[in-house]
Amino acid sequence: MTELHMQSIPISTIADVFGTPLYVYDADVIAATYTSLRRVLHPAIELYYSLKANPNISVTAELIDAGAGAEVSSLVELQTAAAAGAGPEQTIFLGPGKSDDELLACVEAGIRAVVVESRGELRRLAGLAGAESVDVLLRVNPAFTSTGSGLSMGGKPRQFGIDEEDIPAVVAEATGLPGIQVRGLHAYMGTRILKAADVVRNTAEILAMAARLRQDCGIELDTVDIGGGLGVAYFAKEQDIELDELVPGLNEVVAEFATGHPDTRLIMELGRYLVARAGTYVVRVRDVKTSRGERFAVADGGTNHHMAAVGIGSFVKRNFPIRHLTALDEPAVAPYTITGPLCTPNDVIGKAVPLPEVRPGDLLGVERSGAYGPSASPVGFLSHGHPAEVLVRDGTAHLVRRGDIPSDLLDRQILITRTKEHDMTADHTIADHTIKAIAVALDEVLQRELPPITEQTRLFDELHLDSTSVLELLMALEEGLGIEVDPEALRPEDFDTVGSLAEYVRAQAADSTAGSTAGSTAGSTAGSTSA
Ligand SMILES: *Cc1c(COP(=O)(O)O)cnc(C)c1O
Repeated sequence: MTELHMQSIPISTIADVFGTPLYVYDADVIAATYTSLRRVLHPAIELYYSLKANPNISVTAELIDAGAGAEVSSLVELQTAAAAGAGPEQTIFLGPGKSDDELLACVEAGIRAVVVESRGELRRLAGLAGAESVDVLLRVNPAFTSTGSGLSMGGKPRQFGIDEEDIPAVVAEATGLPGIQVRGLHAYMGTRILKAADVVRNTAEILAMAARLRQDCGIELDTVDIGGGLGVAYFAKEQDIELDELVPGLNEVVAEFATGHPDTRLIMELGRYLVARAGTYVVRVRDVKTSRGERFAVADGGTNHHMAAVGIGSFVKRNFPIRHLTALDEPAVAPYTITGPLCTPNDVIGKAVPLPEVRPGDLLGVERSGAYGPSASPVGFLSHGHPAEVLVRDGTAHLVRRGDIPSDLLDRQILITRTKEHDMTADHTIADHTIKAIAVALDEVLQRELPPITEQTRLFDELHLDSTSVLELLMALEEGLGIEVDPEALRPEDFDTVGSLAEYVRAQAADSTAGSTAGSTAGSTAGSTSA
């Protein structure tokens, strides 16, 4: 039996050491993918890594080390990129709905560009920047539509970017905003484009649009971000983009633009293309069973870590490439449906996958899974948590993210104090709260030095309340606790001690709540019986 090796380390060793389910990434594949693209691209194009595809800090660092810039879309991604070694001059921030904190962090870091998605965001950024200067690219929602992506971005109403028609007005407005330096444009036409000709055509359209807008409104074109969206093949009959097919056409379009705009730098931002092929999702089979003639391999991880594998949106489920990692050379004997530990029939990472004999304990791998894995999956479902991630680099397997352990999921939750209605003395939180409110009210009403207030403090004997101060006290409590006091329900013994008054107040509070739903009469009867 041959098994998969990652840079000569058997996958079973990696699985034993780090546990399953886990993601394993091959640093050599990441570096080679980047380098082979970089080597052939026109020098005017700078490659930026879209952290969204795989935000792991060590994966990001591989690409930064290889020479990529960073394209980030959240505060944590901004911090990840910086920690992974991306300088501010090689970082851009884009995405709809940026928070003030995110925009301020961009201003403070002095990143290469904030990609602004709307006129409102531009104004907000200007307000936050104050006297600081901030470089901006305007994201355009082009008037034309893209080709080749299932998720096309242009020519439609979208929450992304500024409609091409409105760009001149926004550029004009930006000149009046101190601090804002519009440096160019950004357009992103969609994801998972597999045909080289589509990438070339989209790029040509974006560059033509940039040139047009430069003519129309004199926008500075220090930088044009041409998006990217290069795909990788996942499913049967798909093929990776061939660089031989892509590069000549792309470089030609770029060279032509560069002649007219020699000082403009182009950014191509890529996520999936750079990391997808470097990653394998490794699961261990727990159970093998047959149901009504269909064979199931039930594994320890599923769509909770790899949502993309479920193939949402396709009528016929299409499988990611899946292999039996410890029996690579054995012939397939049967189709297996591979499921995970979730209590939903949709937890299927492979449907009728032809595989060699599968036994409990075997390792299966979903390949080409380095992009949009755990970070794009419902890792909280059934509280299984985030899987471990391992990066194999220079022949050594490194843990680059510890898998969640129970305390990671439990410690963030807050169990509120249990109380029993019939046992008022056990009701410490509420009692303390009410006693405290009474102490505050007494302080306010009596306006003199008081002994320490406890439940036992006697209101008339010790504090010398009179009938006026009783009324004022009740009013202060109504105000302070947001309750309504029912004078009918008041009995002299309620004023014995702070504790008895607290009980009365609690009954009134219960009435106010009950009154709003069940009617105050029923509420006050219940309240006075329990008090
Ligand atoms: C998601 C996204 C990317 C990365 O997309 P890939 O298909 O993974 O390369 C780049 N730019 C923008 C604006 C995006 O939204």
